[in-house]
Amino acid sequence: MKTTNEFIPVNQPLLAGNEKKYINDCIDTGWISSEGSYVKEFEKQMAQLTNRKHAFSVNSGTSALELALKALDLPEGSEVLVPSFTMIACLSSIVKAGLKPKFMDCDLSTYNSEISFMEKALTPQTKAVLLVHIYGLPLDLKPILKLAKDKNLLIVEDAAQMHGQMYNDKPCGSFGDISTFSFYANKTITCGEGGMVLTNNPKYAERIGLLRNHYFNNERRFVHEDLGYSLRMTNIQAAIGLAQTEQLNKTVLRKREIAQNYNELFSKFNLIDLPHVKTDYAESIYWAYGLSISKDIKVNADTLALNLKKKLIGTRPFFWPLHLQPCLGKYDINSQEKLENAEFLGEKGLYIPNSLSLTDEQQEYIADCLKEELSKLAN
Ligand SMILES: *Cc1c(COP(=O)(O)O)cnc(C)c1O
Repeated sequence: MKTTNEFIPVNQPLLAGNEKKYINDCIDTGWISSEGSYVKEFEKQMAQLTNRKHAFSVNSGTSALELALKALDLPEGSEVLVPSFTMIACLSSIVKAGLKPKFMDCDLSTYNSEISFMEKALTPQTKAVLLVHIYGLPLDLKPILKLAKDKNLLIVEDAAQMHGQMYNDKPCGSFGDISTFSFYANKTITCGEGGMVLTNNPKYAERIGLLRNHYFNNERRFVHEDLGYSLRMTNIQAAIGLAQTEQLNKTVLRKREIAQNYNELFSKFNLIDLPHVKTDYAESIYWAYGLSISKDIKVNADTLALNLKKKLIGTRPFFWPLHLQPCLGKYDINSQEKLENAEFLGEKGLYIPNSLSLTDEQQEYIADCLKEELSKLAN
């Protein structure tokens, strides 16, 4: 059995392209604020990647979601559908916009929400839906977009985990009224920290641009029609992001290669369910290599994670369902419903290291340890 001397983190950015060159350029020219040219160029690249007319860089994916929800300008208290199996920013952006979340369950195998869960959560008060693609596969958008159209629902697409992914022949991040990305350090394109809001709608674009920067306008500086935020991205962040977009195709190929390797290493091991490889509309890009402990095995992912940590292997637990968050009560959000699949995954799922720099030997070591530890726990 292979061994390791060093801790293997669950994810590590790879900055092996033009990152250093572009950052040095920022420093050499003195352009380090949001006024620098890398910001414009990075926005242009992201708009091109997603066939969007307008792109606004911001300081995080969370800020991107907050701007998106605010820009919709829905009446206070309007209901917004959101998957339960996603990250807290999806919930907080809804609440902070004065809107009311309504949770959808997810599929056990793709981890994504589906039309059936949307139909179940929909009420006459529903005004919008926040769609989130999880880990590697996009949601099945076609039926969802049709229902949204029939019911007059606005759509925000959170593509934070989907850089470089397609739904059929269209890029993720190109759907809905407004779409968002994150460029956090573990994302497929990273700036360290950062985010992007994209839209084709000129009305939303104007509002997003104003909200991002204190509602400064071009007529008379320091006269403000409304109150905004300070959420701009710096030129240095954008320089890193731009260099990262140049590597996107390579990054996606490598993520798939790592996943393929794991799929083979785990192929005869039946105590876990492996990530869904493909659907009829997309092949996974494995932003995270997530797996869940099989239903009939009475072991939780947290226990397995602890044992793997002792073997110097980093993991991340799956999302804890939003409808079970202890903070909900504070915001008067009632979530009595039981969303079985999200709850199951929250207990049983984790993802294992899939950094671009991971070696074959490390993958074998990780697979060996996981099989050994889980087999022990299951007995
Ligand atoms: C990472 C992520 C975010 C938040 O992005 P930050 O840049 O960390 O604020 C939002 N939604 C999803 C689905 C994410 O994965």
